[in-house]
Amino acid sequence: MPAVPVAHEGSCHCGAIEYTWTTALPARRWPLQLCQCAFCRGHGARMAADLAGELQFRFERPEFLRRYRFGLRTADFLVCKECGTFVAAVLLSGRGAQGAVNINTLKAMPAGVQPGKPVSWDGESAEQRRARRVQSWTPVVGPV
Ligand SMILES: [Zn+2]
Repeated sequence: MPAVPVAHEGSCHCGAIEYTWTTALPARRWPLQLCQCAFCRGHGARMAADLAGELQFRFERPEFLRRYRFGLRTADFLVCKECGTFVAAVLLSGRGAQGAVNINTLKAMPAGVQPGKPVSWDGESAEQRRARRVQSWTPVVGPV
């Protein structure tokens, strides 16, 4: 049975940052990662991405968009200044922009989503981190 892409809508709490994540992966097969860095743990983030999918942001209130960088500073963590929600992470690569979304910000949680697995990337160099993300994160179309 061919996989059919499904558009999943998400946003921060106040709606300043919205996105559509389109993926043909069924929810039960989303590669959910519970990153154990202090930032992601603090937000309880569950990150998902699909290299074969598509991610589109809509910055409804661009003045509320905060791009937070920390650690190796290899990606922008998109946080809403108004409501404090961590929505997604984005990096610029040779392929253009790619991102991973915090699925806790989906407007509707599909059935079958798995608990995800704790991951730690502490030992990575900046180059390893960038390479891993380029091979797994969702291509971004539109504004980043
Ligand atoms: Zn917000």
